[in-house]
Amino acid sequence: MKEFDYIIIGGGCAGLSLAYELNIHQKLKNKTLAIIEPRDNYIKDKTWSFWKIFSHNFEDCIKKSWNNFTINIPNHTKYVECKNTPYQTIDSGLFYDKIINSLNQNNNIFFFKDISEIKTNNSFIFNSVADVTSGEDNLWQHFSGFEIETNKELFDEEIFNLMDFDCDQKNSVHFFYTLPYSKKKALVETTWISDLKNISIQDYDDQLNHYIGNNLKIKDYKINFKEVGAIPLFNMKNKKKNNQINIGTAGGMTRLSTGYTFLNIQEHSKYIRKNLDNIQNTNLFKLKKKYQILDNIFLKVLKNNPQNMGQIFFNMFSCPPETVINFLSNKSSVFEDLLIISKMPKLKFLKQLF
Ligand SMILES: Cc1cc2nc3c(=O)[nH]c(=O)nc-3n(C[C@H](O)[C@H](O)[C@H](O)COP(=O)(O)OP(=O)(O)OC[C@H]3O[C@@H](n4cnc5c(N)ncnc54)[C@H](O)[C@@H]3O)c2cc1C
Repeated sequence: MKEFDYIIIGGGCAGLSLAYELNIHQKLKNKTLAIIEPRDNYIKDKTWSFWKIFSHNFEDCIKKSWNNFTINIPNHTKYVECKNTPYQTIDSGLFYDKIINSLNQNNNIFFFKDISEIKTNNSFIFNSVADVTSGEDNLWQHFSGFEIETNKELFDEEIFNLMDFDCDQKNSVHFFYTLPYSKKKALVETTWISDLKNISIQDYDDQLNHYIGNNLKIKDYKINFKEVGAIPLFNMKNKKKNNQINIGTAGGMTRLSTGYTFLNIQEHSKYIRKNLDNIQNTNLFKLKKKYQILDNIFLKVLKNNPQNMGQIFFNMFSCPPETVINFLSNKSSVFEDLLIISKMPKLKFLKQLF
């Protein structure tokens, strides 16, 4: 059986981002890497969106970038500008193609379908396979989306909708969002934040068709692509091992209050690349503790007050946009944190804190 210096388990967003980062910085010139990935081929399966608060390796995989967005609750719309930190959407198909083409040029990088095909004892392992065994009470962010195309020019491609709470709230937090890629094409997603017992995923298609017809007033469209998935909004149970660190969702890179993960993965990849030669003795990369504490309180409020969350998110955006964006992207100062906290319903938050 073959042995490798490094092993990456899971060639998804985090595994491939790390392999690419190591490869372009010549860290795999004299070292070997095995990537364990069960899928047979890479096809577009997701779109990753985020505010560009720092540069990353995948500018050429951007499907669309916006400088303006809206957030809605019934009868109210807020317009927000974000030109200093544009909101970007990455097409996973372009991302996979770019990385696989680059990795295939390096004879020190090998792909396997299963970890049992190689020896692991003397390798350093980066694991992105999350242990998502979840308690009944843990929250998940569920999505389902249609990429639609219309005959007529119906979308304003200059502005996207981040959250539209003008929809059925049932027992969970529910909103739609719309990313217009062009005047005729857009991704429309329905999103629920809920534990597993309160979620009904059977009627996602009906919800989307109803929203597109009634809220967006679009009657005639075709569906080019469907996206469906769920992000765990709780810490993973992956065990710590001496010769292994966890990356991606498994490594705690998901911001628990929002599900945003992509840019955290890129920051983590850079951190590993910089510390690779002494990785075993390097401190683990973590999202700042303050976000873990604030997000845990936020999620408790969310779980117990789903019907108020639209208003809470809406109020948050009465802070300056850069403050909210920095906060949601884990780059806020203490002053910005306090500004955000000042917009929250204090009694509800204090109740959950104690
Ligand atoms: C539908 C959806 C939309 C999202 N949108 C956004 C967004 O807009 N912005 C954002 O910041 N984040 C978003 N996220 C969250 C996050 O960015 C993604 O989930 C991201 O893909 C996480 O990367 P990862 O490498 O941890 O997991 P994945 O990308 O899922 O990679 C894990 C890999 O492990 C492989 N694997 C599974 N089992 C094994 C095994 N036993 N052995 C080896 N390999 C295995 C899988 O095939 C997969 O390739 C989204 C998530 C989902 C589900």
